[in-house]
Amino acid sequence: MQCPKCGHDNPPEALFCEECDWRLDLPVGATPKTKKRNPLAFAVLALVVGLVSAILIFVDGAEYGAIGVGAVGLILGSYSVNLPRYLNPDNKSVCMGLATAGVVLSVFGFILGFAAIAGVF
Ligand SMILES: [Zn+2]
Repeated sequence: MQCPKCGHDNPPEALFCEECDWRLDLPVGATPKTKKRNPLAFAVLALVVGLVSAILIFVDGAEYGAIGVGAVGLILGSYSVNLPRYLNPDNKSVCMGLATAGVVLSVFGFILGFAAIAGVF
């Protein structure tokens, strides 16, 4: 099989070009499929974690949980907000919106968790 990229003549059963390692079933210019991270899944996860953190504020004795979950949500959320920028998915604004909401809720849970422990309310 002739390589579509470099033109090298490979054995018919070859999957990759012997000369340039190009995948022979891919046309030139195609991007080889790699395992993709799903920005929407990360954004939804960030939102859920943020929500849990915010809800824990209102659970008696769960202030430390709210702080912990809020911290996780912050890390996850800021990661999720940046992810669509690199991957450029179709639902970019949805992903970033969800992730931003997750960050806001996480901040809310994180700060109010400390406030609850300090006896502010
Ligand atoms: Zn080749």
